[in-house]
This record gives sequence, C-alpha cells and structure tokens, in this order.
Amino acid sequence: MSGPQMSDLPPEVAAAVQRAAMPDFERWHEMIKSAGGCEQPVRLRGERVTLDGETGELIESYSTDDEPTGFLITACGNRRASRCAACAEVYRDDTYHLIISGLTGGKGVPEDVSGHPRMFLTLTAPSFGAVHARRDKAGKVQPCRPRKDRPLCEHGRPEGCGRRHQADDPQAGQPICVDCYDYQAAVLWNAHAPELWRRLTLAVPRLITAELGITHKALREQARLSYARVIEYQRRGLIHFHAVVRLDGPDGPDQPPPPWATAELLARTLRTAAAQVAVEVPHPDPAAPPMTLGWGRQLDTQPIAVAAELDGIADKHVARYIAKYATKGAEDSGTVDRPIRYATQINSLKVTQHARRMIWTCFALADLPAYHQLRLRGWAHMLGYGGHFSSKSRRYSVTLTQLRQARADHAAHAARQAEGHPEPDPNRATVTTGRWKYLGSGLMNGEHFWAEQARNRVQQARAIRNQLTDRNDEQKAS
Ligand SMILES: [Zn+2]
Ligand SMILES: [Zn+2]
Ligand SMILES: [Zn+2]
Repeated sequence: MSGPQMSDLPPEVAAAVQRAAMPDFERWHEMIKSAGGCEQPVRLRGERVTLDGETGELIESYSTDDEPTGFLITACGNRRASRCAACAEVYRDDTYHLIISGLTGGKGVPEDVSGHPRMFLTLTAPSFGAVHARRDKAGKVQPCRPRKDRPLCEHGRPEGCGRRHQADDPQAGQPICVDCYDYQAAVLWNAHAPELWRRLTLAVPRLITAELGITHKALREQARLSYARVIEYQRRGLIHFHAVVRLDGPDGPDQPPPPWATAELLARTLRTAAAQVAVEVPHPDPAAPPMTLGWGRQLDTQPIAVAAELDGIADKHVARYIAKYATKGAEDSGTVDRPIRYATQINSLKVTQHARRMIWTCFALADLPAYHQLRLRGWAHMLGYGGHFSSKSRRYSVTLTQLRQARADHAAHAARQAEGHPEPDPNRATVTTGRWKYLGSGLMNGEHFWAEQARNRVQQARAIRNQLTDRNDEQKAS
C-alpha cells in the first residue's frame, strides 16, 4: 500500500481496509448492502432448490458453497432501534405504511376508507405516587411540585419539590419518595395493560349496541371496529397506548360504515369505555382486598383529518407518530433492552433507581402464586408489561407479512433482471425446498465501517424519498 502506512491509520479504518482486501469482499459488500447495513447480520449456510411440481425437473438451484464467502447474509430484522438501527428503520417504514393505508387507502385498501369515522386515541396509566416532572406553562418551566409549609411524608421526606426540571433532567419521572410510591400496583398495572386494552375493545361495541338499542348480532351485520395501536414507555416506567380506532362496514375497510357511525359516537363510546373498564387483581397481601386497576383519567381522543388544515390532526402525523413508537423498547423509561435472568444481576444493571425498583418488584411478585401466570420475571426488563409493542385488529389494513412479501418479491424480481434470468411462469406449479444452517451473527473485525456506510446510503435515499413525497402531497393540496 502506498501513501500513509497502515500503522498510521486508526485501528478500525485499518481493519476496514484489510477486510476490503480479502477475496470475498466484493460479494460480502453486496450482501451487506442488500441487508441495508444491518448491525447484527445473520450468516447462513445451505441451499435452495426449485423443482417443477409435476415433472420434478430442476428449475433453479442455489448453494452457499458457490459463494465466495461460503455463506449468505440476511438482515436480523430486529424491530428495536437500540439493537439494530438499520432493521428498525425498515420496521418503522412498514409500520408507517400499515397505519397510513388504513387512514388514506393504498396497499390494497380502498381510498374510501378515509371517509370512515376514525379517532386517534391516547390512553394513560393512573398515578401510583407523585413523581418529579417538567411542567410547562406558556413556554416557561414551572416548579415541579410546589407545596406551602413544606410538609414531610411519613418517611420524613419533603412531599413537594420546588425545582424547575429541564426536559433532560434525569430526576424527571422518578418518584418524589420511593417508599410512598406504590411499586406493586405500578408493576401489576403494566402487567394487566393488555387485558385493559382487550376489555376496552369489547366494551366499545357493547356501548354502541346499548346506545342504538340493537343486538350484538345486528351490530356485527352492520359495522366493525378496527384498530392499530402501539405502546409508549413513559419516564415513570408506565405505558401509554396510542391507537387509531376506526368504524367500518361489517367486513372491514372495503365496505362503507352504516349511517349511524359517526366520529362523535366513536369518541363518546371510547371515552365511556375507558372510564368503565377495570381488572380486579389479587392484592400481594392476602389479607388485603383485591386491587382494581383501570385506565388513568388523562385520556385523549382526536379526530384524524385527511389534510392538516382541517380540525384534528393530520393522518400522516398520526402514522409517523405510531411508527416512531413501534421501533422503541422500554429504554426511554431507564431500563434495559433484554431479559434479566437472575435476581443477582439487578444490582449491577445500568438503570435508573426507579427502574431498578420496578425490576425488583417484578422479581418479588413473580414468586407469589397469585401472579405466576403473569411471568413477571421474564418481563422484568419491560417493567412488568408482557404484551406486544404494536398490534392491530385483523381488518385494519395490510399486514407486516404482506408488506415484507411484497418487498421480497420485488428484490427477487430485481435480482432476476440484473442477472438476466427469466421471470417464473406463474401457471407452472413448483416446489421449493431449502436447508439452512445458522453459522453466527454480527459483524466481524473490519466490517463495521462498511455496514455503517451501507446504512448511511439507505438513510439518505429514504430522506430524499420522504422529501419528495412530502413535496408531492403539498402540490396536491395546493
Ligand atoms: Zn438488523
Ligand atoms: Zn421535582
Ligand atoms: Zn414517603
């Protein structure tokens, strides 16, 4: 190598240069680019054979033995931005398309869906004790929790706090007194949040039938409730739900909703349902009466407008908001992003004191027979919540699997074109079998640089595409 000596280069650059000099680099680089610069790519060895379904004639075969690398790379596909920025971006894009097609149509959903009554719903957790918070009033930060006469709690700590917390203050979200804070109820609430959501989705149709004076069967023949929702972890370690809820005809978005289905009716029944639904849970102290867990009093329902200028919030804004939370984990609440196996690990975890108390509480409650089915140990890193980060009802719009299949089909088509292979005959029955062995995952020495480069390229392309679609939308609107 001419010019600067290898020994002058920073070690990671020298490793990247060395990797690029290896004989399999070109093919490896191609694979990591098509994996979008995945941070934890999976290496597979194996083969795939496609045969004619009737004659058994070999149509196509592929083996990693023929690859210069000796393996094939696939993206890890992790949803979480904290694990893989590249795959999380893909997931975020898919979630965006899933949400927006349920609001404006597209991807097989008719455009008429934009006329169906729909609401953007935010459900909160109740309070389990006072926490430090940043409070804003007309753009000015207010004192956290001002108290006259500076009262003390039973643990001898001040009940108030006169500080003005900035948004990045690590104290924000932490309890004012950890001993006053009801950790048991907080963990049990997170653990039962999926059940509260389920009961809410059952309560809304029940309230509609009561209001219209029709039977459940009659309702099912006229309308269907569809939704897509995500959860958001708050600094205080409790979750919020954000959801798009929509009223359709009986089969879903392809059919118009009945005339009585209005946005007002939907908002009203959502609010009533949120106030009514509750779960009764045994108290950790067997002598105490059961706890009743419900939604927090803070509740928000907003109509979703087709364009931003109208009342309500714009459909795109909602879709972006939901897609953003779909790629997050519980890290925003100061916890860790993977399961905690042993109680002995808890003390050394790099988490906030509040998260540590929540995790401890999960472990402590997990041993009580009344909570075995909640699997609180397994969900301790999620502070008790064991549900999905995002979910949707069956007929909301497309599915993530459909979006992924469309992308895979597109990639296969592009690859055939690049290599001059003919398109498969759709009328010919074929059988494809494969045999794959997992070799390992992650990037090896010298590969991080190239993966990051691939990631940046994908990100730039995405940014340009988003700008173009925004500009197109503006032109359409004006
Ligand atoms: Zn990945
Ligand atoms: Zn405070
Ligand atoms: Zn106290």
